Amino acid sequence: MIPLSKSMIYLSPPHMTGEEQQYVNEAFASNWIAPLGPNVDAFEQEIAELVEVSGALAVSSGTAAIHLALALLDIKKGDTVFCSTLTFVASANPILYQGAEPVFIDSDPESWNMSPKALTKAFQEAAIEGKLPKAVMVVNLYGQSARMNEILLICNQYGVPLIEDAAESLGTTYHGKASGTFGNLGIYSFNGNKIITTSGGGMLVSNDEAALERARFLASQARDQAAHYQHSVMGYNYRLSNLLAGVGRGQLRVLGDRVAARREIFDVYYNNLSDLPGINFMRELENTSMNRWLTTFTIDEKVSGVATEQLLAAFYREGIEARPVWKPLHLQPLFSGARFYAHEKNRDVADKLFRTGICLPSGSSLNEEEQQRVIHCMRKVFEQSIRNRIYLFPGKQEV
Ligand SMILES: *Cc1c(COP(=O)(O)O)cnc(C)c1O
Repeated sequence: MIPLSKSMIYLSPPHMTGEEQQYVNEAFASNWIAPLGPNVDAFEQEIAELVEVSGALAVSSGTAAIHLALALLDIKKGDTVFCSTLTFVASANPILYQGAEPVFIDSDPESWNMSPKALTKAFQEAAIEGKLPKAVMVVNLYGQSARMNEILLICNQYGVPLIEDAAESLGTTYHGKASGTFGNLGIYSFNGNKIITTSGGGMLVSNDEAALERARFLASQARDQAAHYQHSVMGYNYRLSNLLAGVGRGQLRVLGDRVAARREIFDVYYNNLSDLPGINFMRELENTSMNRWLTTFTIDEKVSGVATEQLLAAFYREGIEARPVWKPLHLQPLFSGARFYAHEKNRDVADKLFRTGICLPSGSSLNEEEQQRVIHCMRKVFEQSIRNRIYLFPGKQEV
């Protein structure tokens, strides 16, 4: 048997309460296995109330919610969509599903999210070319909200709708308002690694009830009003199952606890690691309370003498799942040739964050002993590096 202290520590595993079972049992007892059902309706309503929007649509994944948002805005071949570059590929894949072209926008160095400066530049050029984007897809990475005030101002100035990919930021507030509710359409994910999970699922939220009604239609095979299965437009099979919505309802009850736990985990990492040379934790944006989905930091190798690969390898050897920051989409082979707007001339912030950033295990079920293992492993790498430098360059301390 593997001793408990040596068990694998995962980045962000599912954290169940046991109460999810009750909702799933109810679905079984009433034979509401499919299609849809009372858990789906209640889950949608509970989310809408929580984030204070007029409606929500439960779907099979966050990616499906993004796809529906783009379909609602009639994004198609020949259109462009401005999209955060530092994100998971699921933010942009649906742009390709629609046959449209993503244009990638760099990160802002403080929030790590969409740079209002780069966005402005992209809009200015698009206006000159006479071809504005059909939408802007802004992502709230690792639970941090993007600078929504600035971004909304720019979008409104050009009259372009905003979609908010809040897959990672459920439970975050920005200026007192729920993350995911700033755009015309917002999306959440309940994938297994997110702050709450249905094992797989997503939600589209909006204050535009007509748009949500249309999304509901598109997500259920676009059936016209008729008993004989009549179809006038192409639809999708994207609805969430009533069983999984039950899991979501159980999870939603503890969202506040999950956010508190992840924030606590961040505090412990910060208090135990921020003294190490060259380490910079992602700072919470002003007027924001983030869910701290993942604790992330960058390493300045010139200062620390430790490369990200070296630290990741050490974690790997110790059975600790740490990860590099998302590889920016404008650097992905899939999107080679796509246009990209940097934060500043010759300054690619997202690339730098990718090359220097690390995500630490941050699951809300991470216990104290496990977290100490992560901290100990990281401190050991840094101490070794300092010793090696003194050994290899004995004269160096005197400089
Ligand atoms: C997880 C995630 C998604 C996709 O959600 P799924 O439910 O896995 O389809 C989209 N965008 C971001 C930023 C994510 O982290």
